[in-house]
Amino acid sequence: MPNGRVHARISKRFRFLSILASAGTYYAWEDWILSISVLPGYLLGAMVDPDMDLPKKNTYAKQLWRRTIIFAWMVPWWNLYGILAQRFLGGHRSFWTHMPGISTIMRLAWMCFPFGLIGRIISPGTMAQVLVSPMAHRIMLGVFIGLTLSDTIHAISDLIWRE
Ligand SMILES: [Zn+2]
Repeated sequence: MPNGRVHARISKRFRFLSILASAGTYYAWEDWILSISVLPGYLLGAMVDPDMDLPKKNTYAKQLWRRTIIFAWMVPWWNLYGILAQRFLGGHRSFWTHMPGISTIMRLAWMCFPFGLIGRIISPGTMAQVLVSPMAHRIMLGVFIGLTLSDTIHAISDLIWRE
């Protein structure tokens, strides 16, 4: 089975697909903010990959979180996700942790939750504004599309190298 580094290399090789997806969303919606957001969404795939369902492993994605230093506290938060995934979502490579789209939205929500909480504590008014802001929704949709693409490539790689 491909490890995080191999997944990252595959992801890099198929980066051009994120540009096509970005162009495709622009063609569909003519919304450049949404379309541009597809690109960081795809890159985010290296840090928020489906293998976050492995709680005890020091995966490549977790190493990237650690390397950011200011967001290193996200590693235990992802470990908690992994523990819950093992216990309630069917464990490693289950439908809930690896199905592009569904698992994507679950991991995005998991990632955003602590940031939302911090935002709410620091400035509840601003946080409430962000949540209802159409701009934030367009960015999130773009990020979701990019991350779903990354998750799809991950899931296909897992299928090809299934052992
Ligand atoms: Zn996987």
